[in-house]
Amino acid sequence: MKIFKLLCLALLFTSVSTYAQIDTKPDRKPGHVNTNKFRQLYNEFSTPNMYRSASGAPGVAYYQQQADYKMNIELDDLNAKISGDEVITYTNNSPDVLTYLWLQLDQNMRAKDSKSPLIESRGVAKATSTSQFASDYLTQEFDGGFNILEVKDVSGKSLTYTINQTMMRVELPQPLKSGEKFSFSIKWWYNINNHIKDGGRSGYEYFPEDGNRAYVIAQFYPRMAVYNDVEGWQNSQFWGRDEFALPFGNYEVNITVPADHILDATGKLMNRKEVFSKKMLQRYEKAKKSFDEPVLIVTQEEAEKAERGFSKAKKTWKLYAENVRDFAFATSRKFIWDMMAVKVGDREVMAVSLYPKEGNPLWEEWSTKVVASTLKSYSKMTFDYPYHKAISVHADRQGMEYPMICWNYGRPEKDGTYSDRVKYGMMGVIIHEVGHNFFPMIVNSDERQWTWMDEGLNTFLQYVAEQDFGEAYPEALSPNDKKFPSRRGPAVNIIPYMEGNQDYIAPIMSKGLNTYQFGNNAYGKPATALNILRETVMGRELFDYAFKEYARRWMFKHPTPEDFFRTMEDASAFDLDWFWRGWFYTTDWVDIGIKEVTKFYVSSEPNQYMKDVAARRGLDINNLSPMVFMVEEGADELTETIKSGIQAEDIPTLQEYLMDNFTKEERQNIITPKYFYNVIFEKPGGLVMPIIVQYNYVDGTSKTETYPAEIWRLNDRQVSKAIPSQKEISSIVVDPNNETADIDTSNNAWPKRIEQSQFDSFKSKVQE
Ligand SMILES: [Zn+2]
Repeated sequence: MKIFKLLCLALLFTSVSTYAQIDTKPDRKPGHVNTNKFRQLYNEFSTPNMYRSASGAPGVAYYQQQADYKMNIELDDLNAKISGDEVITYTNNSPDVLTYLWLQLDQNMRAKDSKSPLIESRGVAKATSTSQFASDYLTQEFDGGFNILEVKDVSGKSLTYTINQTMMRVELPQPLKSGEKFSFSIKWWYNINNHIKDGGRSGYEYFPEDGNRAYVIAQFYPRMAVYNDVEGWQNSQFWGRDEFALPFGNYEVNITVPADHILDATGKLMNRKEVFSKKMLQRYEKAKKSFDEPVLIVTQEEAEKAERGFSKAKKTWKLYAENVRDFAFATSRKFIWDMMAVKVGDREVMAVSLYPKEGNPLWEEWSTKVVASTLKSYSKMTFDYPYHKAISVHADRQGMEYPMICWNYGRPEKDGTYSDRVKYGMMGVIIHEVGHNFFPMIVNSDERQWTWMDEGLNTFLQYVAEQDFGEAYPEALSPNDKKFPSRRGPAVNIIPYMEGNQDYIAPIMSKGLNTYQFGNNAYGKPATALNILRETVMGRELFDYAFKEYARRWMFKHPTPEDFFRTMEDASAFDLDWFWRGWFYTTDWVDIGIKEVTKFYVSSEPNQYMKDVAARRGLDINNLSPMVFMVEEGADELTETIKSGIQAEDIPTLQEYLMDNFTKEERQNIITPKYFYNVIFEKPGGLVMPIIVQYNYVDGTSKTETYPAEIWRLNDRQVSKAIPSQKEISSIVVDPNNETADIDTSNNAWPKRIEQSQFDSFKSKVQE
């Protein structure tokens, strides 16, 4: 059966294309450059080396620096100030000799002399919200930024340092050789910003009803910059939007806050018995064994009681974190606290939530369960969550991640009611921010350079985790929803962005600061691209294996984009240069359609086409080598006999061929297609993608065929397929399940779908 099919195809197309080539003049153009979309990304990718191998794995000489911190921090709740001293021990694991160290002073973005506001191109807005107007023109500039009091070596000698905006260079007394450590100390303080009023990824919210603040504190200490084989010292300033690049290290942190505060942070609490009441300790023991429902460590009643006081006494919370890239904490006397245990592989992890009463009833109901579900989903797709806890803190209008702890929005109305938008928004942001523990907190990419490496990969997994959560907790969904209504991930959701104005679209492979439409560029598009790669191009099994391999290879290390691209190919045997090039390096979009479908019937008599060729080339029509001919639907020469479907046995040359080349048995198994279709697929869109085609037959059956992307390797505009069929085709549909983000589906069907005229749709609307 196969053989006969092939034979027909070969005859139809060798004959047509051979003569066509002879009869047309070749198109000669000078200065040809290779623009083939399947060429390897040798120009775009950095060359593999001893640090980063061609497979996408860390190379034999891979290294990373280490920064260990010992810090004493004190919060002045009355004046909203924070001060601290830190001892940093920096280990130079690089083969290079260093003469200075660079630190990041991110708080300086809020300093009065900050240049961040100066790089924004913003004229007078003709209409502004009152709050925006007030913050733009009426309020005093906030007096933020680090006040560096001293920088000293371990012997107490001052070190020379230079501050350039948000970065600080410390001169080393002696060059730091490969393998050596250097310890030094910094003392500092700053005014804490109100993150609701002044913005920022940390700060406090003030609650006028009870006069308290809830603090979510991060980027609060001078942090070591990354030094590596790719960038040297990371030297890109913090302008406010791009996030961070940080080395791993161990943190010993003592945080002193008012005695009536509840605090949680990155790291293990080392003095639980000192800071917990007896009741809290008992509840904590119960929570460690509760795998289905969170246990309250601090109840709403207790939090409301604390709100009414203001303790002058102090309490120090001692934390220790191993192998983390950052440290953050949340503290307030307003916090309600709950926890539950979650099994991740053979480990038991605590899922934790901190929230003021303003978060209830939504937060007590869902936050901790969302955390637990997220840890399971992400662990399944990557590696078992290696830390001992994950905390979700409720902070209005925040969505921000740190190791083991994150801030999340989603606040009900004052009367406790909330819309679906608030509920799903809250669940989605918790999944997202808890998910960031994996990317970039553990798979530690450079967020300052490549926003998509953490946001895109994380948003992709957020989609997977949201769907898992909806399945695990159907009672969390609204009555009309059968599954979690994910905003990003499904292919169709990215279409409005992909078909938008090209002046305001940048390739994914752009530095975050320099992209338009940040959310679509760094979150939505890469997440969708990976979802399409998983579902449509590679299949779940191969994709998931390779994705997991990437996560495992770069767990607690610093990957680059190439390490991701290369690993995905290396572990799956998919040559994906065309995919990375199109989706990540260009702003092209998907548009694949059907240009033309022609129906043919087989004939034993030379057709008009052959007669024309013979006449033109002076061939004897009666003396050709054995051939089979095709007659097009609608042609004058199409007789009723041909149309009724000539069988193989009716074609003498074919009979002879079969007699000569097939055994009797093989001949019995031959089946004969009755209909032949020449389908021309077109690709007005620049992106190369597989063609997913559904063939529907007159008898009501259908068949789906996926032509791999490589079908476009020799012609980027259109390709043809001969479709032999025993059954008559009634219609053909490209991308029938809308899985490729095709921006124009008007060319996706044959015969063309009858689009409702504007008048008809107007009429039907009026009738409704
Ligand atoms: Zn994010």
